[in-house]
Amino acid sequence: MNGQQIYDLLLKNGRVIDPANRRAGRFDVAVVGNKIAKVAPNIPAAHARKVVNAGDYIVTPGLIDIHTHFDAQGAPLNLNPDYHALSSGVTTAVDAGSSGHKNFEAFKSEIIDDARVRLLAFLNIVGAGMYGTKVEDDVREMDVEAAAAVVRKHRDVIVGIKTAHYQPADWEAVDRAVKAAEMSNSALMVDFHPKPGRDYPELILKHMRPGDIHTHFYGRLTPQLDANKKVQPYMWEARKRGVLFDVGHGSGSFWFRIAVPAIKQGFLPDTISTDIHKNSVMLPRASLITTMSKFLNIGMTLEQVIERVTVRPAKAIRRPELGTLSEGAVADIAVIDEQRGEFAFLDSGFGKHIGDRNLRAVLTVRNGRVVWDTDGLSLSEWTDVGPYSNYR
Ligand SMILES: [Zn+2]
Repeated sequence: MNGQQIYDLLLKNGRVIDPANRRAGRFDVAVVGNKIAKVAPNIPAAHARKVVNAGDYIVTPGLIDIHTHFDAQGAPLNLNPDYHALSSGVTTAVDAGSSGHKNFEAFKSEIIDDARVRLLAFLNIVGAGMYGTKVEDDVREMDVEAAAAVVRKHRDVIVGIKTAHYQPADWEAVDRAVKAAEMSNSALMVDFHPKPGRDYPELILKHMRPGDIHTHFYGRLTPQLDANKKVQPYMWEARKRGVLFDVGHGSGSFWFRIAVPAIKQGFLPDTISTDIHKNSVMLPRASLITTMSKFLNIGMTLEQVIERVTVRPAKAIRRPELGTLSEGAVADIAVIDEQRGEFAFLDSGFGKHIGDRNLRAVLTVRNGRVVWDTDGLSLSEWTDVGPYSNYR
């Protein structure tokens, strides 16, 4: 090897957007091993073993999707993680409560430990996880101590507690989830259907703690707008007290008729996530890169969108070391193509919005290695690759 080649990988001249470091502009990003070694203009190409010309692309920290369903071992709607995350530029995915304290160990050993994407999890307050209405409505399944104990045991991969799908009109599920999050000193994600006697303002103003995440907040059951499409005062109040609002697109939770007026009034999501599963990834196309494109076409800037899939979700899941291109950080990087033209985007009501920009994840680096490269940016022409023995 050439003694000058101090970097393993060099992304040259990309349009870097790294909100954690307030960095936006043309930079080179150099990687050594599994770490970001240097971000600077004009790093000599000769100093790297592999050079990718990123001049036509956006270079960001690897994306973080805090609402996924990648516990592929049993729940009928769940997907396998690597393809669906890495192909969207996602290097950190958080499974949102597919499993609970009874089946998390199996999820970990069968899926998490082998995934190339960094797969983290919210633990469902329901012991059996998302295995149907019958268990998910059963308060006896919600063992606060047992859930907190599993979070503490697996702090390296469990970021917090999730409550979801609970139908009875009381606060048991939310309050037990809050308790378990408190006891384990971890984050909380809440999926909530308001009912008479259990209303939404009370959830976000009284039951949830600052830093807790309400997901699906663009869902049609979330009363965030009044009859005149004005953002309700309690939304601003909850935001002021630190409650976080997450997209969780999914099948039913992204409606242009809610998101467009809310964004126009300046009520932006805190984090953009997919709730990706077997249904939502088809119609209405809830992959992260497409979900980001939707927001880009309804009034958010590219910088605002990137911030909500990098530094902000990292903070929300209490992993501030992620979602950044800081020197010394783990080398998780997304290279994104911003296309101009005419593109159709769908929402949960199967309404469409025609936009003029579309994002496409072209290359993903996870832990220093290129793991997705759909246009072959890091590769050579087949006529130039040499003998079979060069193949690794
Ligand atoms: Zn979900």
